[in-house]
Amino acid sequence: MADLPCGSDGYNTAFNDDDERMLLEYAARPVKQQPYICGWVISGMACSMPVIGNTFSTHLRDQHGVVGGGKVNVRCEWTKCGMVMNKESIVRHVTEMHLECKFICDECKAIFTRRHNLDRHVRKKH
Ligand SMILES: [Zn+2]
Ligand SMILES: [Zn+2]
Ligand SMILES: [Zn+2]
Repeated sequence: MADLPCGSDGYNTAFNDDDERMLLEYAARPVKQQPYICGWVISGMACSMPVIGNTFSTHLRDQHGVVGGGKVNVRCEWTKCGMVMNKESIVRHVTEMHLECKFICDECKAIFTRRHNLDRHVRKKH
């Protein structure tokens, strides 16, 4: 068992070997099954963890504390979308609204649902 380095809070900021293997394996899959980058915003920062589509509800529960039955109201924090809906609707909402056309700015990781919005953002901000 390895000691944590002094000053570490135990937060894993680097991919370990398993994560890397997982990503390589996913990269070989059809596009629809490839992971996307979670855009759920927590205290001003996008989560940015790789998520596979059908594990998103688990990811929301484990990483973002979204718990309860399907009728529980959940606010979508995906790039500060802010829409409130049933928990059972949120995976579909995120898939349809935030993933089908996803364009991510290389500079600041902002996520856009339309190509021209990203283009406009890059022109204005970078
Ligand atoms: Zn996340
Ligand atoms: Zn949303
Ligand atoms: Zn940007």
